[in-house]
Amino acid sequence: MKKSHGPAFRKVMKPLRACYDCRGSGLRMGMFHQLECATCNASGWVCAETGEALPLADLVLQLGMKLRALERDLALADQQSGPQQQYEQNNRLGAGGSNYTGD
Ligand SMILES: [Zn+2]
Repeated sequence: MKKSHGPAFRKVMKPLRACYDCRGSGLRMGMFHQLECATCNASGWVCAETGEALPLADLVLQLGMKLRALERDLALADQQSGPQQQYEQNNRLGAGGSNYTGD
């Protein structure tokens, strides 16, 4: 029989939303200084379900996951909107609305 180690389930990305108190900036205007927003642990993000700040350890993990996911999306979007895609997309410049690439 196999023994499993560590937590039973994987860490999953939680839905986050911008903090209303600081409008997602992580900072609030105090009397004279900008103050770190206590509502969201100065991250600008709170849990979309509860509206509460995530514990710092979780927050770092969640923001890291979010950042990596966005980087991945961005890299993907970059690839897709490159010259290759423009070339392959129908530009309707050819006869009868067909693709014309000039070569
Ligand atoms: Zn906040």
